[in-house]
Amino acid sequence: MSTHQTWMDRAKSIRPPNDLFIDGAFVPAESGERFEVYAPRDGSLITTLARGTHVDVDRAVKAAADSYASGVWSRASKRDRQRALIRLSDLLIENLEELALLESLDTGHPISDSLNVDVPSAARTYRWYGEAIDKVYGEVAPTPPDQLALVTKEPLGIIGAVVPWNYPLIISAWKLAPALAVGNSVVLKPAEDASLSALRVAELAVEAGIPPGVLNVVTGLGAEAGEALGRHPGVDKITFTGSPTVGRLFQGYASESNGKQVALELGGKSPHLVFDDVADIDACATSVAWGIFYNAGQTCHGGSRLLVHDNIHDQLLERTVGVAKTLVMGDPLDPATQISAIINRRQRDRIVSYLDLAHDEGVTLALGGGSEPPHKGLSNGFFVEPTVLDGVKPSSRLFHEEIFGPVLAVTRFSDVGEAVSLANGTDYGLAASVWTSDISRAHRVAGSVRAGTVWVNTFDVADIVVPFGGFRNSGFGRDRSLHALDSYSALKTTWINLGN
Ligand code: NAD
Repeated sequence: MSTHQTWMDRAKSIRPPNDLFIDGAFVPAESGERFEVYAPRDGSLITTLARGTHVDVDRAVKAAADSYASGVWSRASKRDRQRALIRLSDLLIENLEELALLESLDTGHPISDSLNVDVPSAARTYRWYGEAIDKVYGEVAPTPPDQLALVTKEPLGIIGAVVPWNYPLIISAWKLAPALAVGNSVVLKPAEDASLSALRVAELAVEAGIPPGVLNVVTGLGAEAGEALGRHPGVDKITFTGSPTVGRLFQGYASESNGKQVALELGGKSPHLVFDDVADIDACATSVAWGIFYNAGQTCHGGSRLLVHDNIHDQLLERTVGVAKTLVMGDPLDPATQISAIINRRQRDRIVSYLDLAHDEGVTLALGGGSEPPHKGLSNGFFVEPTVLDGVKPSSRLFHEEIFGPVLAVTRFSDVGEAVSLANGTDYGLAASVWTSDISRAHRVAGSVRAGTVWVNTFDVADIVVPFGGFRNSGFGRDRSLHALDSYSALKTTWINLGN
């Protein structure tokens, strides 16, 4: 088993891929320009990455379009695509430690999470869609007997995937795996703060047998490479995960260019609704704490609001704080670390500005509030302690705005109607959880909360087998499950006159 020291030594010697990946090869940006990438754990320079612009996006889209037109992937047998995706899944696991290290170094995820969650989950996603693709059938329409109409599912063409920094391996797999399984060619624009694993996966994809040009990666800034992809007339669909503000920009890019399809997975402000008949208050406290503090709250569906019945407020708060106190914040490269670093200085400062707001509003600080690195060796790193704010008013920005950090806002309620109205009282609708031992109440409340996922007596258990996405300001796209295959497909009718 690797120790903290081993991971630090490996981090010093790792040479991450750092050019664009176009047509199966690493190439610099046409301009020769690069940008710097820093490690959240200690603020040190990891590498410089090629700064792709519209010229490079054009090259990548051309490579994708050529591969698509050649049919080498788009018309390959489903068994061949299946074999390559399953091989890619195996390669992720064969390169588990390298990928986990890249992810932890780049994003600040604890190395134990990268090893046990991020890489295996991405690998499972490629395998699952690989295994699924030869089980998808078309339809025969109910036409008159002298006619035959076939409804088949065709790849859409060229997919532009734009992803955020919080779970780069997992979120890109949610998009790439179904898009590739269906036969599309793809250009991926990873987040500027978290591009390293994407470049390595693209390289492994070629090794797995996905032909050059089918999966391309253009690193660069959002307002340059991201916008160029969003506006490119050769792209048939953008699948985006990120902030609501940038998501809306993509709708604009689409309407001002070729009217391409756009699917948006955006932010959240997910509530736990905890009723006073909750069966297992300790299990609830553990879920509430992990639900917000995992990945230091940098999770779109993180349970950032605790709505709790007056009768159990004190008890649940005490136990949640108790669980949070046991969580170990430390160096992401230490296998004992449980709480991540914050992705960059700007995000850390943004979270701290919300803590200042809490102070100004006189909210009770039940836990945390600090932003000191856990020890000296990480003094230039970005960290925020698990923080619990009690008595957050529904009128407060702390209640409404996505902080995207380890900050839990606690608000009391006294009846079911108030709980549901508080739960629906933000612009978001990504996820929620209901804690009760009354099965009727569980169903009624789950049915009344506007959220793409509602958990009952649990939180954040998820798998590739179910769809994931939101309502309202949380977007409308759905990643995961067999439905994702449809979102990268176009229905095609072939109508045949059979004659007499
Ligand atoms: P972001 O919107 O700033 O960036 C997302 C991507 O868009 C990045 O690749 C970025 O380079 C690109 N981008 C930024 N500005 C752009 C522009 N002007 N034009 C084109 N592209 C641009 O989001 P982020 O800060 O990377 O991630 C955090 C956000 O993502 C949070 O709001 C979070 O809730 C959301 N998120 C949502 C989900 C989900 O599935 N619903 C999952 C993870 C994260």
